[in-house]
Parts: sequence; structure tokens; C-alpha cells
Amino acid sequence: MQAPSFGGVKIPSGNGQVIRLPRGASLSDFGDRIDVNPASLVQVMMHLGEMVTATQSLPDETLLLLGEELKYRIEVVSPEDEDRELLESFSIEFGEDDGGEEDLFPRPPVVTVMGHVDHGKTRLLDAIRNTNVVSGEAGGITQHIGAYQVATEVDGEERKITFIDTPGHEAFTAMRARGAQATDIAVLVVAADDGVKPQTAEAIDHAKAADVPIVVAVNKIDVEGADPQKVRAQLTEYGLVAEEYGGDVQFVDISAKQGINIDGLLEAVVLTSDAALDLRANPNQDAQGLAIEAFLDRGRGSTATVLVQRGTLRVGDSIVCGDAYGRVRAMLDENGSNVEVAEPSRPVQVLGLTNVPSAGDNFLVVKDDRVARQIAQQREARERFAQQARSSRRVTMENWQKTLEEGERNELLLLIKGDMSGSVEALEESLLKIDAGGDEVSIRVIGRGVGAITQNDINLAASAEAIIIGFNVRPEGKNSELADRMGVDIRYYSVIYQAIDEVEAAVKGLLKPIYEEVQLGSAEIREIFRVPRIGNIAGSIVRDGVIRRNAKARLIRDGVVISDNLTVESLRRFKEDATEVRDGFECGIGVGYNDIRVEDVIETYEMREKPRD
Ligand code: GDP
Repeated sequence: MQAPSFGGVKIPSGNGQVIRLPRGASLSDFGDRIDVNPASLVQVMMHLGEMVTATQSLPDETLLLLGEELKYRIEVVSPEDEDRELLESFSIEFGEDDGGEEDLFPRPPVVTVMGHVDHGKTRLLDAIRNTNVVSGEAGGITQHIGAYQVATEVDGEERKITFIDTPGHEAFTAMRARGAQATDIAVLVVAADDGVKPQTAEAIDHAKAADVPIVVAVNKIDVEGADPQKVRAQLTEYGLVAEEYGGDVQFVDISAKQGINIDGLLEAVVLTSDAALDLRANPNQDAQGLAIEAFLDRGRGSTATVLVQRGTLRVGDSIVCGDAYGRVRAMLDENGSNVEVAEPSRPVQVLGLTNVPSAGDNFLVVKDDRVARQIAQQREARERFAQQARSSRRVTMENWQKTLEEGERNELLLLIKGDMSGSVEALEESLLKIDAGGDEVSIRVIGRGVGAITQNDINLAASAEAIIIGFNVRPEGKNSELADRMGVDIRYYSVIYQAIDEVEAAVKGLLKPIYEEVQLGSAEIREIFRVPRIGNIAGSIVRDGVIRRNAKARLIRDGVVISDNLTVESLRRFKEDATEVRDGFECGIGVGYNDIRVEDVIETYEMREKPRD
């Protein structure tokens, strides 16, 4: 068959061959698969009237269009499909209960609290935590693990309810965007003194889109001027009609602050669940569910809160969670107590995973550690590949606006690393919401993760020309030097709004960096000396650079910033005061901070004025 010609480029016809490409693939990925130089594909696209670069990630339609032109049948595979196929290759089905009707048993509803800012979502979650009606453990729930379960009595029967302990619809939608749904019922909090507000409407939209029934908590009824009936009237316009007005939505008047009628709200949740949903799961199968929150704990390692959605999770099970895997070493509930088994709708903190999964990752119990490792490694490889595929060039936050003006790029690429998956997601969510001035400019997050900034992060950022955002984390070992060498801009933040402000300023070309942090040196703590009246002194060895008295310092533990804004208050070498100690020498350092531990790193720096470029 004759090769079709596109403005002089000859590409052999695909003859209807099927090519499967991951969603967001680029011309270069496509070229690899059909053994054609991507530059030729760029020309074909030009011929089709579209300007795209070889490494740019393409929308489904473009991939299909190009395939059609070259006589290939393109199948775009979504990440969810890819994952399903991966699990199928191990004969695992995710998301389905095993067995038949007779294997299904009722499970408690899982609830998310949503509503407008300041209407009392957080306060309500606190109040519920303290009103564990049946068990009567006053103030019993002590740990924040991302979700908790309470019990309440309805018609003389003890009923359990699981609450996701992150208020607002952001986490809810972020999970849904990843194809995961944890929530069965939404509690919509509306302050009776304020009425329906923009985020109230947003929350309703999200709950409806997810097909999740709503229970309305009319809050702050203790406030003067509170008008619960007005809230009912307003909400009818959004299709939420109270039972007393002939509708099917439960409205409950409460005061989260004074703890009024919290049990009434819990009862309404149970009744709504009974009336609108048939929540059942098979407890007698391998457990499956979702990660809700995860972080790295120095003592305990990866700590992930998972919500069991079906099956029963047991200590000793081999599990995979996202690209983390391991054997469940221990499980803790919201009271910090050890639990041996977790049944459907039960949130538990799981210890024993190799690394930190992301919120929204699915978890599943598999036959043995080997299978767990294989699935995790394939997921990790796929993610790495996808990240590399999204990569292309190099940029810093300051010169980004310049490149933009030169018309070179219209996307600011970011890689986010943080100390907790919750904060990473919250940050990502907020950064993506920055209005970067119309359609021409956009912000894209090419990667995210929990823990120290690794060599892999820096390589990825370098190849993609992305900026790394470090939220309460630092580079591992000598990685900050590596980043310098590779020209990767790393920005450190410990407050979300600061990160947002700066990125927003960069996007709008308003960033005025006045001071720049310059690393002076770092020292590793080898021994702790307790000095009366002075506090703990860190017996350390200087690992690089120089430690200078009065320099600014921060304390880092496993790549995570434990304390910032410290000062080298005292510096001694063999009982003598020293002004500076160099690389390779031992010294005693006092930073005026007592929670120091062996193997912590003291990093010192100074702020230098930096010219605008
Ligand atoms: P969120 O932004 O929706 O999480 O709102 P918060 O739970 O942080 O509450 C916002 C403010 O309203 C706080 O100062 C609470 O103490 C107050 N608040 C919450 N519930 C009540 C209530 O029932 N009565 C009164 N008087 N104040 C409340």
C-alpha cells in the first residue's frame, strides 16, 4: 500500500492496527509505538491545522484525529482503566463485592460535612466527636486520623456513622476527580444567621453531581437573629425541600457550639441512609477501600488512614495502597487504640507500608507480599513514565514571566512535595484555582508526593522545567546542591497562603524577590548534651559548608522541617567558643530548641539580597 504523504512527509499506513495510548500521551509517545520520528508527526499535525510540539500531552480528540489520518485505530486508555487492567492481570477485581446477595451485610454510612466557610463545619465535626452518644466515652476521640466513627441510638438500636474529618467539598471533589468516592451522605451546614452563600450552592452541586443524598444541618440557632425557617425557604430554590414542607430532605436545627441537637442530626443521617440508600458490603472477603490521609512519621514510618469499603482488614494482611505496599503491622483507631480487624465503613490508621500513599489512592488486600510488591512497582513505574512524558523544559519562578512574554510557554509547571498528603492536596487544589489571567496562562501540577525532595523529584523538575514547591519539607542529603547544579528552582513554604500568593504573583508577573536564601552549611547531630539552664546542645559533625555563630538555622528530621527560624546561639569546639566550624569537624551547637534528636540535621543559611532578573 502506498504511503500517504503529508506535505512531503511519508508515513506508512497503519492499516487499521490498534494502538493503545495512555491518556495525555504525546506525539513522541505515539511515534515510539509506531516507530515513526515524532518530528514527522509534528508535521502531520501541522498539515491537519494544529500546532503541537512533540512532547506536549494531547487531548483524546487530537490523538484520535491523528490516528484516523494515519489509519491507526487509537484506543485512549484512562489511568483508571489501566489500573483495572493491571489488577485484572493478577485476577483481582477492585470495587466489586464478592459473592451474592446473601453475602452482603449492612454497613454504616460514610459522611462528609460541607458548606460555606465559617458556617461551622469544623466546629460540628468537633461536637460530633465529643458526642459519642452510645459508648459515652466523653471526649473519647483523641487522635486526628482523617476520619472517625461514632455510634448513636436510633429506635433502641446502636447505629454507627463514619465521618470524614476534613470539612469542605475540596477533598470530596479531589477524590472524585480520581475516580474514588468515599462519601455516602453529605451533611450540608448552613448558618441560620447567614443563610445560603456561594459555597453552600457549590456544595449542593457537588453532592448532586455525585448522587449523594443531603442532610441539612441548620447551625448557629443560638445566635441572635438566627432564622432557621428562612434557610429552609432559601434551599427550596436549590431543590432541597424539607420534610415538613412535603419534601424528602431532613433539616435539623443545631448549635455546634453549644452542642444542641447533635444527636438529632446523627439520627437524621441514619434515617436518610435507611430511606435513600441500601448500604451493604461483604465483610467476608479480602478488604478493599481508599486512603483518606497519609503522612510519614519518624518513629512509625508511613502512616496511612484507610477507609475499608468492603471486606475485613486484618493485622498481618498484605496490602497495596497506590504505589505503596506492605504487610499491615498494626492498626489504630481514632482513640489511638490498637484494633485487630476493621470491617466495612471503618476508618483505621495502618502502619507498615513501604512509603506514603496519596489521599484517594485505592487499597486492597492481596494474596501475598510478592503480589503486593509487583502491583505497587508497576504503578510506580507507570506514574514515573507518565511524569516523564509530561516533561519538557526549564524555568524559575522569576524568569517564568519573561519566558511567557517571549511567547515560549503558557504553562507554569509545578511539582509539589509536602509533609502530609492532606496538605499537598489542599495546596494543589488551591494553586490550581489561581486565576492566572484568562486562558492564555495556566498552572499545571506535574507531580506531587509526601516526604523529602528526592533526586528523582529534581530530575523530573529539571527535565520538565518545573518549579518544586516544598511544603514543610527539604531536599534529602545533598539534593539541594544537585538542584542548584541542574538549575531547578525550589521554593520552600510552611504556610499555604504564602505559597499561593507567590505563585499568583509569579503568574501575574508581579514577583519581586528581594531576598534569597543562601545555604551556609549543615551539620548532623551525633549526640545530645543536656546543659543545665541552657538546654540541649547538639554534638554534631559539620557535613558541608560552614556553621557560623548567629546564622539562621532550621532543624530537619528525615527531610521534614521540624523547626524553622532558629539561630545558632552557641557554637563550641572542644569547650572553646568558636565563630565558625568547617566541613568535617565536630562541634557543639545550641539553637535554642530542645526537641533535637540524634541524626537530625541542622541546616544554616542567611538571607541575601537578590537582584531582579
Ligand atoms: P467552618 O469554616 O465552616 O469550618 O467554620 P468553623 O467551624 O470554623 O466556625 C466558624 C465560627 O463560627 C467559629 O468561630 C465557631 O466558633 C462559630 N460557630 C460554629 N458553630 C456555631 C454555633 O452553633 N453557634 C455559634 N454561636 N457559633 C458557632
